[in-house]
Amino acid sequence: MKIVVIGCTHAGTAAVTQIAKLYPEATITVYERNDNISFLSCGIALHVGGVVHQAEQLFYSTPEHLADLGVVTKMRHDVLSVDTTNQSLYIRNLVNGEESQDTYDKLVLTTGSWPIIPQMEGIQLDNVLLCKNYAHAQTIIHKASTAQRIAVVGAGYIGVELVEAFEQLGKQVTLIDNAPRVMFKYLDQAYTDMVEEAMTDRQIRLELNQTVTAFKGIDGKVAKVITNLGEYEADLVILCIGFRPNTELLKGQVDMLPNGAIIVDEYMRTSCPHVYAAGDSCAIRYNPTGKHAYIPLATNAVRMGTLVARNLVTPTIKYMGTQGTSGIKIFDYNIASTGLTEQAALDAGMIVKSITIDDNYRPEFMPTYEKAMLKVVYEEATGRIVGAQVLSKADLTQSMNTLSVCIQNHMTMDELGFVDFFFQPHYNKPWNILNQAGLQAYMH
Ligand SMILES: Cc1cc2nc3c(=O)[nH]c(=O)nc-3n(C[C@H](O)[C@H](O)[C@H](O)COP(=O)(O)OP(=O)(O)OC[C@H]3O[C@@H](n4cnc5c(N)ncnc54)[C@H](O)[C@@H]3O)c2cc1C
Repeated sequence: MKIVVIGCTHAGTAAVTQIAKLYPEATITVYERNDNISFLSCGIALHVGGVVHQAEQLFYSTPEHLADLGVVTKMRHDVLSVDTTNQSLYIRNLVNGEESQDTYDKLVLTTGSWPIIPQMEGIQLDNVLLCKNYAHAQTIIHKASTAQRIAVVGAGYIGVELVEAFEQLGKQVTLIDNAPRVMFKYLDQAYTDMVEEAMTDRQIRLELNQTVTAFKGIDGKVAKVITNLGEYEADLVILCIGFRPNTELLKGQVDMLPNGAIIVDEYMRTSCPHVYAAGDSCAIRYNPTGKHAYIPLATNAVRMGTLVARNLVTPTIKYMGTQGTSGIKIFDYNIASTGLTEQAALDAGMIVKSITIDDNYRPEFMPTYEKAMLKVVYEEATGRIVGAQVLSKADLTQSMNTLSVCIQNHMTMDELGFVDFFFQPHYNKPWNILNQAGLQAYMH
């Protein structure tokens, strides 16, 4: 069996390593246009902020490691086209420019995503940077070392983490977004208010509810960000406004969402025989709505990549879909969310209610305790849990993993009230905060 994998970051590395273990007799070739594999972008802000000192720690695999598994990894090779009818592909060696052809019995497309780059005046100016891969991380660190005023465009979790890192480096930071709140997709207002207050307390300038329209430069280097509401001086700009799936290679050959995300079934099969896909190049079933959605996360990528391997020959293990569960630590706050915010549920036309618990996370007889804010969103008619958020100076983020399982399994608030959770004063109260949410929904 001849297997070709295109792209080798998280989905690709997971697929390749598992395929090599499950099918030792297979011929496996990986094409990767970059000069490294398995880079953990989640470490960029930590590296920029000086928490992680050695960038090498942000990789967990190498072409040599894959070679030990019998995999041929062709680095700096760009796949130019794929012909799914003839099961062939064309490749360019980016080092010497040579082009070649290859064929496959099974193709795994793990080409991921690329940051959205808005076409506007000044976008090509020096010091307008992206934040996705290892090279970007190095450029950001290099340029930030001399920058004074840094503007981050996009207040999703990547932008917010970078803002924290730059603030800790002593920079003057401006965060710009067209949404009315930071992390709008992940958290409802009570939560984003806390984060925004923590930012403004640290003199971070928040410029929300406005759209960037241009960048102005001096001598080819960015000097100002222009929005529909104002102008902000900046000698470095980082664009973090979202991602697009990298799926041109299969355009017109497999089913996709309108944004180009490949639709795979629960076994990671595309609509084209012998072609599998995983990770940021794909749409995924979003359990709170039951619909396909584009949720580019490393967690989904590694699960989907592993499932490609398990299902490559015989459909064996189904993907259960996702709740888009994510966590972030910003200044003193540990924050996590799963599923829909109340706002997102209402925007999706769902009729929902929510319960918010504001309580100390453990008994007041303990020497210390912290406030915890938990919100659970559920369908009004059925009580089915569709989303939740938690914020505390104590680390309660794992409770969102628990609620992710609840959403996955269609649990209701009534059931949540009586799930067996432990009690131990170091960690919680006799009624666990999740139980409390379930119980209070009954009275609501
Ligand atoms: C700054 C940042 C922080 C993040 N933090 C988190 C986090 O904390 N938690 C989390 O779950 N997720 C996080 N993510 C998201 C996560 O990094 C992505 O979901 C993940 O990288 C997706 O992996 P992937 O393998 O599907 O795609 P990608 O990482 O996009 O990799 C695709 C690979 O395919 C290669 N490729 C593409 N086209 C071709 C071609 N034609 N020929 C050859 N090679 C090709 C690319 O060079 C690349 O190596 C973060 C992302 C960023 C940018």
